[in-house]
Amino acid sequence: MSDELHDQVLYARFGTSSPFWRLSAASDTLELASAYGRAAPSLAIPLSSSQAAEVRSLGGVTSHVVADVQLDGAPLRLHLVGKKLNGHRWGGSASAHADSESVARALLHGLSFAEQVVSEVNSVVVIVDRRGRIQRFNRLAEELTGLREEDIIGRRVSTLFMSSDGDAVSNRVSATFFNRGEPYEIERRIKTVQGERLFLFRNRFVRSGGGIGVEDQFLICSGTDITEQRLAQDRLIEQATTDPLTGLANRNAIQQRIQIAIEQAAPGETVGVLFLDLDNFKKVNDHYGHVFGDRLICDVSDAIRNCLNPGDSLARLGGDEFIVLATKGSAHQLENTAQRILDRMRMPFAVGLVEVYTGCSIGIARWPEHGDSLESLIRSADTAMYVAKDEGKRTHRVFSPDMNRRVAEFMWLDTNLRRGLEEGQFALHYQPKLHLATGAVQGAEALVRWNSPERGQIMPAEFIRYAEESGLIGVLGRWVMENAAKQAARWKAAGYDLRVAINLSARQLTDTAVVRHFTEALQHAGLDPCLVDLELTESCLIENEAAAIELIKQFRRLGAQVHLDDFGTGYSSLSQLGRIPLDVIKLDRSFVRSIQADTKAQALVRSMVAVAQELDFQVVAEGIETEAEEAFMKGIGVDYVQGFLYARPMPAIEFERWLLDRRKLRLIA
Ligand code: C2E
Ligand code: MG
Ligand code: MG
Repeated sequence: MSDELHDQVLYARFGTSSPFWRLSAASDTLELASAYGRAAPSLAIPLSSSQAAEVRSLGGVTSHVVADVQLDGAPLRLHLVGKKLNGHRWGGSASAHADSESVARALLHGLSFAEQVVSEVNSVVVIVDRRGRIQRFNRLAEELTGLREEDIIGRRVSTLFMSSDGDAVSNRVSATFFNRGEPYEIERRIKTVQGERLFLFRNRFVRSGGGIGVEDQFLICSGTDITEQRLAQDRLIEQATTDPLTGLANRNAIQQRIQIAIEQAAPGETVGVLFLDLDNFKKVNDHYGHVFGDRLICDVSDAIRNCLNPGDSLARLGGDEFIVLATKGSAHQLENTAQRILDRMRMPFAVGLVEVYTGCSIGIARWPEHGDSLESLIRSADTAMYVAKDEGKRTHRVFSPDMNRRVAEFMWLDTNLRRGLEEGQFALHYQPKLHLATGAVQGAEALVRWNSPERGQIMPAEFIRYAEESGLIGVLGRWVMENAAKQAARWKAAGYDLRVAINLSARQLTDTAVVRHFTEALQHAGLDPCLVDLELTESCLIENEAAAIELIKQFRRLGAQVHLDDFGTGYSSLSQLGRIPLDVIKLDRSFVRSIQADTKAQALVRSMVAVAQELDFQVVAEGIETEAEEAFMKGIGVDYVQGFLYARPMPAIEFERWLLDRRKLRLIA
């Protein structure tokens, strides 16, 4: 039968020479129909199982299968053009002759659908041949570049819209791509009508069935604009790794860098870390405000950066803490760097019109010697910094293992001192002060004791300094004021004529609320007139003499006497004493001790007492342990004495018993 006759067979049955066909997954019977829908005339044609399988091999892209079947007892060659329609059905249009217009029409149908998809899809699609010439350019590509497809077909993709360095890379990549034929993803900066944008291209290699002389290998590049996504991602990464104030690396970033440095260190190489902490930043911040503090931090970070060796990195951990990472460099070089920073920090920083000094303390640790991991390395540097601070500040220390013990002690104090204050583990002991000429008890000095459930009685020397550093001295100091005032009130009510002196540390005087707290303590105790005196050390006067004088005046107006404790051990000069409104000077017990040794020391003590009396101050000699010491003090006109010769500090009850015993003894004598 000729093609034409076959055509007539189909036309006769269906009223069209290209009826629709369907095949389901369930049956090997091919269904032909003039139109989709139940009402249309249809015909079932059995296929062999291999024919059915061949039809079912059609996928989502329109294609072509030939099947030789029987129709009304006569053989018929059917050309099935179609595709898979859904999970269990295939379909398309059938014709009875090869190469007919209807085959072409059906194929064109599928093709134009595919072309339309390429055009309308919401990503940039560019199809390029192996020489980089554009074959297709979809609508989104047109919109983005402002070019029309018909104007640029056949032109080189690279010269059209890629930057020049992208061009070279692109040519190299696409050449390899064509040679290997593997798909790949690539990010490209593309010149668009909105300026340069970043695109992620998914590139696939496709071979077409072209004839002789027709290019048969293509890139299909489909791209998505990821500019915003990348910007957001970059911002996130930047936020996560940068200190917003200084622009330096932050804690995360420096930890990563140290980790990498450790991992990449060659055998025998070390990784050095400097841990820096400013010494008085909190004070500056409190005094001048945060804006000033922020500017100072920025200036300090610039200054530190200028002290580093090439290749060192600087990070701000937050607050006033910094870390320097030195990947290569000997122990000696690390110390040199630290010293350079310390030298620079000795000079003032000018912030606006204000010049401030802010020293720093530096701890040094090296991997692997002082810590074999990132964490232990940083911890060791931090520990060494802590020790540098503890040993006078404005200095650096290299880590050593025994430092851990000291830091452990700090940690113990930090937790337990707080708890001790909350749980009322503190007590006051009282040591009498006597009038030397008459032996009358003038009053008592209140000295704090810490009764730790874990360690028993702890003396102030072991915790006062830590309380000062951690700021807990504020709470402790108020507790002392309140309790000493109550004790003074109790003694007054019981008929004793006693004053009680309390110790104030320099740190307490930096809080101007101290006078109010003192007033409140007197009020709470109902103590009027004021029977509580204050012992200040010379360090209280050094830092800010004017402020200290103002506070002293306020205390004295309330009726308190002000005593200068440990006189002679600090820096205050006799001439400075003249400017300070004091009542009493307490000669430090080291002078009392020294008088046995040589006559020069005796002469010194004698003249100190003479000058004090000249300035109208009374003098207390503290730490009198022997009768010889007492006799000497009597000889030079010291007014009051205090010391183990008379009594040790003791709880209030014992103090009262001691007073009674003493009165009895004096009555007998
Ligand atoms: P301080 O104010 O100079 O107190 C005198 C210290 O010398 C007391 O030591 C006392 O027990 C001791 N002492 C008294 N007589 C003699 C003696 O004859 N020989 C010897 N060797 N020592 C004697 P303590 O109680 O251990 O206090 C030490 C320091 O702790 C005090 O020195 C004071 O600076 C400080 N402190 C004590 N209580 C407080 C407090 O409540 N607040 C503050 N801020 N500091 C306190
Ligand atoms: Mg004292
Ligand atoms: Mg003293």
